[in-house]
Amino acid sequence: MHGWTAGLDDLADGIFDYARDRMRLDPVPLDGPREPAELAAAAGATITTDGLGGEAALRLFAGVLAPACISVDHPRHLSFVPCAPTEAATLFDLVVAASSICGSSWLEGAGAVYAENQALDWIAELAGLPEGSGGAFVQGGTLANLSALVAAREHARAGTDRQTGRWAVVAGSEAHASIAHAARVMDVEVIVVQPGKDGRLEGDGVAAALEQGRAGGQRVFAVVASAGTTNLGIVDDLASIAGAVAERSVWLHVDGAYGGAAMAAPSVRPLFDGVEHADSLVVDPHKWLFAPYDCAALLYRHPEIARRVHTQHAGYLDPVERGGRWNPSDYAIHLTRRARGLPFWFSLAAHGTDAYRVAVERTLEVARYAARAVAASNHLELVREPVLSVVCFTRTGWAAADYYAWSDRLLAGGIAFVVPTVVDGEPAARLAIVNPRTSEADIDLVLHSMR
Ligand SMILES: *Cc1c(COP(=O)(O)O)cnc(C)c1O
Repeated sequence: MHGWTAGLDDLADGIFDYARDRMRLDPVPLDGPREPAELAAAAGATITTDGLGGEAALRLFAGVLAPACISVDHPRHLSFVPCAPTEAATLFDLVVAASSICGSSWLEGAGAVYAENQALDWIAELAGLPEGSGGAFVQGGTLANLSALVAAREHARAGTDRQTGRWAVVAGSEAHASIAHAARVMDVEVIVVQPGKDGRLEGDGVAAALEQGRAGGQRVFAVVASAGTTNLGIVDDLASIAGAVAERSVWLHVDGAYGGAAMAAPSVRPLFDGVEHADSLVVDPHKWLFAPYDCAALLYRHPEIARRVHTQHAGYLDPVERGGRWNPSDYAIHLTRRARGLPFWFSLAAHGTDAYRVAVERTLEVARYAARAVAASNHLELVREPVLSVVCFTRTGWAAADYYAWSDRLLAGGIAFVVPTVVDGEPAARLAIVNPRTSEADIDLVLHSMR
């Protein structure tokens, strides 16, 4: 008899109290990383033959380990793309953990998969994808992009058995790093296209790249368009790109890992016109749709193509494929799978989609405020007018080292987490606003710190 359930009630109280207290912190401390030696001194060896006991291990986490992690939901965490889950989503994540669901197959997780698919359907509906589109929640945009491109390549392979040129994908110069990484993993080339003068990738450029690829004997199997670049939030001209792609029967993959959430916001929805033509689409609810890590939505226009490519076959898996029901494991490079879409689903179900529209619009409003404040300041200059909720700007007279010193100072003071970026080779400050709790006052505080 093992002793794992001994002291369950006390430990449960400790864990639930911790979770409740953490969620009540307002504002949550920003916290920050510590050196390995500092952590070693403070935490020591945590894995022992006899165990520390749950309460001691929790105390160690609460006192030493958790404060050595930056709180991504802090309203002045404006680096990279932060994550600001709703309380409903975070709480339900506890339920998902306690429910021991395998989200791989309909056989094992029918109820969870049903709910996840409704959440996916909402995103498909925002995009205007046709009835019958579908996919799965995967770990992140990186894996989603790779899975979609693998499906696209296998689909193309089926149609081009007599050709032998190098496989290639066409992508804009501002496409996310995960596209180049996927190409590396797949051993395919990337034909890089420069965007038009407003920074958007356009149909003409894509058409030229497709022709160039064809002339060079490459087998171009997909075009990747960005629906919100990570660095600047630029949405490519999806309608003209879709036109160029359709004429040449190439797969259109739209990477909306960050920006796709803004399809829920009427004030910017027209920017996404053309997304309805996507063969595959990625939107990360863990970025701008208020879901906890890790949760990326991967959708296919023709899921059966992805299913043929991604289903794993083995004698012991035959029972899963019986009955032909929807198995999330069939749509990406994964098998065992947490039902990671459920926290997102629960929050959507609890709050309704209008609340999502309002929350995304709020972040856009604060981004526009930030842009106005930068424009009005005499020591700051916008790199470009923000399109979505990323605001990029420079500080007169600052070199990269100044941005880093400023960024370090803000983090060390527990004030804000704002790391610099590089645009066209020049250092710049960058605010990524995806947290509805980020206010105009937060923006003022950060901007004033640059004086
Ligand atoms: C963040 C991002 C990705 C990668 O997503 P992860 O969830 O971090 O793996 C891909 N594309 C774009 C446009 C992104 O912003």
